[in-house]
Amino acid sequence: MEDDDEPVSHSSIKFSKKSKKHLVEFADIDHIQDEENTHAEDKLAVVIHQRAIEIYYKTGEMPALVEIPEFFVSASPCSKTFGTTKKASGCTENLIAWAIKGVLVRSEDECESYVKMRIGKLIVNKLYKGNTYEDAASSMAAIILMKAKKAIGGWEIQNDPGKLDVSKIPGYKRKG
Ligand SMILES: [Zn+2]
Repeated sequence: MEDDDEPVSHSSIKFSKKSKKHLVEFADIDHIQDEENTHAEDKLAVVIHQRAIEIYYKTGEMPALVEIPEFFVSASPCSKTFGTTKKASGCTENLIAWAIKGVLVRSEDECESYVKMRIGKLIVNKLYKGNTYEDAASSMAAIILMKAKKAIGGWEIQNDPGKLDVSKIPGYKRKG
């Protein structure tokens, strides 16, 4: 059967377009429609969705979990909990929600599943808003919370906040 040769890629491409339309229909991914949500983490929900669909076509089963071994963002995720964003939900809160509840993914047969996300190592160039002690402490706390909630397995901060004495930032560690 010649058709068996490449149904996966054909279907994936086809569904990829269809899934993009679906993305905006789901509350979990409404986030990316919002103009203020331009942080890199917002794209992860789309990545999880697409990886899940790829796995679904390869194996016939929707994965329960999609792991991202390493994820790089220039600044650490913003956080509603710790007050570094005015967004309805910060990137920290989204990553935790996607890790605990998952991203809603719909397969071609209209089957809906929540696919959980886990980042092996979050690599950031620097702390988000790391110019003041208050914001740097909040951004550090957000990273620690994400690890506690298992949204990330660990972190690496490439550069210290230049103007601050890092010993005065609670819990600050370049790697954890
Ligand atoms: Zn953010």
